Amino acid sequence: MAPAAEGGATTQTPETVDVIVVGTGMMGLYALYCLREREMSTIAFEAGDGVGGTWYWNRYPGARCDMESVQYSYNFSKEVRDEWNWTHRYATQPEILSYLNHVADRFDLRRDIRFETRVTSAVFDEKTHLWTLETDRGDVARARYCIMATGSLSTPFRPDFPGIEDYQGEWYHGGTWPHHEVDLAGKRVGVIGTGSTGIQLTTEIAPVVKHLTVFQRTANYSTPARNRPLREGELDEFKANHAEWFREATYSHTGITSNPPSTNRSAHDDTPEERQLLFEDRWGIGGQPQIILAIYNDINTDQEANDMVADFVRQKIREIVDDPDVAELLCPDKGQPIGSKRPPIDSGYFEMFNLDNVSLVDVRSAPIERITPTGLCTTDDEYELDVIIFATGFDALTGAMLAIDIRGRDGVVLKDIWAEGPQTNLGIMAAGLPNMFMIHGPGSTSVKVNMFIGGEHQIDWIMECIEHLDANGFVCIETTEEAQADWTAHVQEVANESLQPVADSWYVGANIPGKPRVYMPYFGGFERYWKHCDEIVADGYRGFRLSRSDSSETNPSVAAE
Ligand code: NAP
Repeated sequence: MAPAAEGGATTQTPETVDVIVVGTGMMGLYALYCLREREMSTIAFEAGDGVGGTWYWNRYPGARCDMESVQYSYNFSKEVRDEWNWTHRYATQPEILSYLNHVADRFDLRRDIRFETRVTSAVFDEKTHLWTLETDRGDVARARYCIMATGSLSTPFRPDFPGIEDYQGEWYHGGTWPHHEVDLAGKRVGVIGTGSTGIQLTTEIAPVVKHLTVFQRTANYSTPARNRPLREGELDEFKANHAEWFREATYSHTGITSNPPSTNRSAHDDTPEERQLLFEDRWGIGGQPQIILAIYNDINTDQEANDMVADFVRQKIREIVDDPDVAELLCPDKGQPIGSKRPPIDSGYFEMFNLDNVSLVDVRSAPIERITPTGLCTTDDEYELDVIIFATGFDALTGAMLAIDIRGRDGVVLKDIWAEGPQTNLGIMAAGLPNMFMIHGPGSTSVKVNMFIGGEHQIDWIMECIEHLDANGFVCIETTEEAQADWTAHVQEVANESLQPVADSWYVGANIPGKPRVYMPYFGGFERYWKHCDEIVADGYRGFRLSRSDSSETNPSVAAE
């Protein structure tokens, strides 16, 4: 690989392929598979030294998926489904990573992947209709299409506390956990953050550390995972009935099915006694958040219905945690609807606070001020810590795209056009960036839907789109500004019909200082999303401008606008 010449220009002749894929997590791998099937030439760039994306990076103790493993799987290959046997209801990170490696090996996908290579810029050339991508290792590659499978939660966020450079202990972030063994036994460990990562991680390490201090800014509603090995016959039954399951999931809001399912009635339809019985029953069954959050059909939209579930969870926390002051601190505020932050599930999180070696520190009333050489200081106390773990989350949905210097047509710079919040059409394309497709981009169902079903659907849509362009002599596809504005407004409208935007969550970017507060994922449900995508295609790619090499616009639906 030729090094970059002084001033950033490169001296090498760029390689040119049909499609460049950025990122080889779950969906980058599927994109590679699809492109191989179509005999299109590809290069994939991957920052890690292995495939797996989220499941490659997040290898902290206790990391596991909180969607049922049988549902959190690829659907495109019966062979993969038949030969892979999940062991547990909720799979661990190592098991999921093995699965993704298995898929990469099975389809020989690695030969197109450049590992340990991070894309730094992507620039569109209007004359050649090619994207030129550069990497931190000096690669320069060109392609007609880019598929940005850069991940929704792939840019770790660590608060900028002063003093970290002088800290004498070890520190880690859950999203960049080292590959080597981290020995926490007998150490005083502080964990900052009580999201899904913090909850899983603390529950796992509490029994081995000398002392665990959990620094909590916002209490979280967590419900029991009740993980267990899959029962005999359970996996075979799922495999045998996959087609039915797939259909049901496809016509659902979340791309996930739950057993038991929603009652499909309002929380107001039941008496308090009936509700309590139902809540207790579901708490006992446990599992993915929908088991409890979808008991009634108005929990996401009606504050009173939401309060009924939230009060039940608070009641459970008070029952589980021995110390009433600690229990109160662990109860989320009334102003935070359950489900408006991503709901975690746990394996004994609240019980953990009954251990003698675990303490909870409220850093909302007394925020962390700085890291000291031997620990950290809040505004009212100092804590001696051998290890600090940041479970402080990610710059979600836009972070990875904005980390790349992306420049499109007419000098469009992605950072500028998203300065007030992301704007996309379908979460797949952004105006000014022809032939650049995002997977799980902002404005797509992404994190609100089964990431496998949702991602596979988007890639299938993109493949069909590329085939359509090629078959009809088009060289470019680009969303119109109008269609993008309409879709972005629709994403907001749908979110505002729910309680989703109420909390200060990463869904609205509230976790990142200075990030515009915009609800980013599409909350209209999977069925509505894919039907809308289908309609757009049926209408000749309505809202997209398709152009030939002489730049003539021939998309009739755009011409009619
Ligand atoms: P997160 O949900 O964003 O949680 C970050 C935590 O760090 C929050 O408790 C946050 O407090 C706290 N925090 C941030 N800055 C802080 C500061 N300056 N001082 C004190 N506390 C601070 O991140 P995450 O737990 O990594 O999870 C992110 C998402 O990844 C999840 O919601 C989920 O979608 C996914 N995930 C999934 C799984 C799974 O499938 N099991 C596991 C892990 C993660 P505030 O709440 O006050 O901001």
